[in-house]
Amino acid sequence: MSIGLKLFQSLGIDTYQLRDKPKVLNQDHENDWASIESKVATCKKCSLHKGRNNTVFGDGNRSADWFFVGEAPGKDEDLQGKPFVGRAGRLLTEVIFSLGLTRDEVFIANILKCRPPDNRDPKPGEVDQCFSYLEKQIDMVQPKIIIAVGKIAAHSLLGSDLPMGKLRGKIHGFGSNEVPTLVIYHPAYLLRSPSQKHKVWEDLQLANDFLE
Ligand code: SF4
Repeated sequence: MSIGLKLFQSLGIDTYQLRDKPKVLNQDHENDWASIESKVATCKKCSLHKGRNNTVFGDGNRSADWFFVGEAPGKDEDLQGKPFVGRAGRLLTEVIFSLGLTRDEVFIANILKCRPPDNRDPKPGEVDQCFSYLEKQIDMVQPKIIIAVGKIAAHSLLGSDLPMGKLRGKIHGFGSNEVPTLVIYHPAYLLRSPSQKHKVWEDLQLANDFLE
């Protein structure tokens, strides 16, 4: 049993095992991924390209049931070119463990693929320019559920400006296909307010029940 699972069980938090799903990939699918990765790697659609060390495309299982969406790369993500690394990333990994999954079994991406300076919030124009990449990723992965991690991701995906307290705790629909979407608190917020962790576990239980 992982350290994460032991920790959650010691806290009295339920954990879950997700059923297996066979991967179905064909050559067209691979070509689509290569095309969008190449476009992101060379993208200059907004001014954020000027300050980046790396684009952060996203990674994980390209036929995952669970698709986690954060807001934008931070300093560590920009340096490593990977989403959700550093302290908040480790906590998100623990959250994924609590579902009986590893990071390799879910897909993780951000609304923005380049780091905003000083970790400021993304500007609406930047989100507008970058959003089509995420839409394409979601379209290709075809997840059973999207997890919007934090307020910025939730607002961008759902086109809402409601506070987190009103967005979490229910299943929304994303896009024309109404992909089931759940909003959870960002791990960076949980690091500052650990007493709120139980709400994330409650929300993930809701997602798990929904999928079953
Ligand atoms: S943030 Fe998105 S739109 Fe802006 S340069 Fe990076 S990849 Fe392109």
